[in-house]
Amino acid sequence: MSMFPASPAPLIDPFGRAITYVRVSVTDRCDFRCVYCMSEDMAFLPKADILSLEELDRLCSAFVALGTRKLRLTGGEPLVRRNIMELIRSLGRHVSSGALDELTLTTNGSQLAKYADGLRAAGVRRINVSVDTLDADRFATITRWGRLPQVLDGLEAARTAGLEVKINAVALKGVNDLELDDMLAWCGEKGFDLTLIEVMPLGDMDGNGGGAVREEQFLSLRDVRADLEKRWTLMDSTHRTGGPARYVTVRETGRRLGFITPMSHNFCESCNRVRVTCTGTMYMCLGQEDAADLRTPLRASADDALLHDAIRDAITRKPKGHDFIIGRDRGPAVGRHMSVTGG
Ligand code: SAM
Repeated sequence: MSMFPASPAPLIDPFGRAITYVRVSVTDRCDFRCVYCMSEDMAFLPKADILSLEELDRLCSAFVALGTRKLRLTGGEPLVRRNIMELIRSLGRHVSSGALDELTLTTNGSQLAKYADGLRAAGVRRINVSVDTLDADRFATITRWGRLPQVLDGLEAARTAGLEVKINAVALKGVNDLELDDMLAWCGEKGFDLTLIEVMPLGDMDGNGGGAVREEQFLSLRDVRADLEKRWTLMDSTHRTGGPARYVTVRETGRRLGFITPMSHNFCESCNRVRVTCTGTMYMCLGQEDAADLRTPLRASADDALLHDAIRDAITRKPKGHDFIIGRDRGPAVGRHMSVTGG
């Protein structure tokens, strides 16, 4: 008999998809209030419900033990969580050991000037930074509380620290649609890739289901791509980052442009991920309500056996996909806002 315990079986869902990517929302709080993400009067979770940094570490490490290769910290805004660098430094051990291919995060960039060097030192190599516009007034309107210069400083710090940056922009009708050429050119100058995202019907935005708001915001990336192709040479690319984006290379800039199209082209057949919130609630699909409580097994024993069982059990319930529909009379696909599950 071997002296070493066999590595546990990988997580395979009922549709044969290997689950190797976990996104963990480390806080539901954010220093921005983006109009498509949160309502203005968000109620936040009571602190007692939120996992400690040590518990988040144990939870993430349990997924790594079960075959997770990519871990993304998100939120809310991950970098506003107090002492977040302790968690990131600690999780970096899984990158050093080779257990993780990638430790990364999605951030609004507001705290990057402070943390970029530390992130790089902890083993983070690439980050996604959400920037929907390069117009300072429009930025303030979209984010309600955000200031563009602070984010631009953060992006410079990330570049200087040697972090690869991908800009994420939600395409919003009548808001940033006329600016996408400028953003593509700017990303080319700065050496950033750009990914455009279709707005998704998550959470009630106006106390009335939010259908009308979503209909006003929604822009199909199929149309955006057709329009961009009039001025840019978009060459199909097989590049993948393990997430849902499909990429082209922009010949004129040499950078990649990604499209995340949950509305106009459903990508669930290749889904390899699950999400866990800061309360230890695991969502097997961004667009479905079913969830599994991981906090109870996590807190029930210092041993990870119960936690592993709960994760495995949840994976058996991973649904085939989401079914987003936007319409004036339609409510959100799920009640929770993106800031709860994490993008
Ligand atoms: N605070 C971080 C940030 O700004 O990137 C991480 C969390 S944020 C919820 C993650 C991503 O989700 C951002 O790129 C944001 O633009 C996107 N997002 C939020 N609500 C969305 C929605 N309803 N549809 C599509 N994308 C959304």
